[in-house]
Amino acid sequence: MFLLAGRLPRYGLGVLACLDLLAAAIVLPAVAAGCSQVRPEAGQAVCADEPLVDLADVAPRIVLDLRYATADNFLRQKLYPVARCLLRESVADRLRRVQDDLEVKGLGLKVFDGYRPLSVQRRMWGVFPDPKYVADPARGSRHNRGAAVDVTLVDAKGRELPMPSAFDEFSERAHRNYAGGTAEQRRNRRVLEDAMERHGFSGLDSEWWHFDAPGWQHYTILDQPLERGVSR
Ligand SMILES: [Zn+2]
Repeated sequence: MFLLAGRLPRYGLGVLACLDLLAAAIVLPAVAAGCSQVRPEAGQAVCADEPLVDLADVAPRIVLDLRYATADNFLRQKLYPVARCLLRESVADRLRRVQDDLEVKGLGLKVFDGYRPLSVQRRMWGVFPDPKYVADPARGSRHNRGAAVDVTLVDAKGRELPMPSAFDEFSERAHRNYAGGTAEQRRNRRVLEDAMERHGFSGLDSEWWHFDAPGWQHYTILDQPLERGVSR
């Protein structure tokens, strides 16, 4: 879940016109892959219409607990017709690398949410129209772009490790800098954050479980149904 509204892309032809030779060399592979919109972002290419892939195909050992495909969420309603985690292709690849790193330590990831269709965001807003807790669909949630994930840590048997708060607990305990809780909970939060940051993800201050992939704001907001599966 993401509390604050995301921003719509504000980059136009001016940015594209500023490509220098180095940046042009960086984006060429993405152009070759068929991207129609490519923008440089801190030394990397972001393809705004990069396809969605099924995380279960890319990283099958990542545990899925897609809460919005059940009634076990803060809205107490099943909002997803299928328990499927779709993500932009490069984002799923990053998450696979995080999983590989964690497995060396006898740990792994559990995913609570990934790509969320815009129409589901509208339903969430209809049930709970408070911008402190739900992103206004008029602006879109970061999850609507397929480049945000809600995750926690599990041990080698898939059991969740203790964290300072539950998922989607909208309290001070969910804040990334919350100094309370036990030392073990804070240590687990740090291990998760370090593992995600090592592969370019950045965390949201108000939710220890939420991470964005680099350049998340350049991906387009989508309403592709989850039940349709991957986009190619
Ligand atoms: Zn989130």
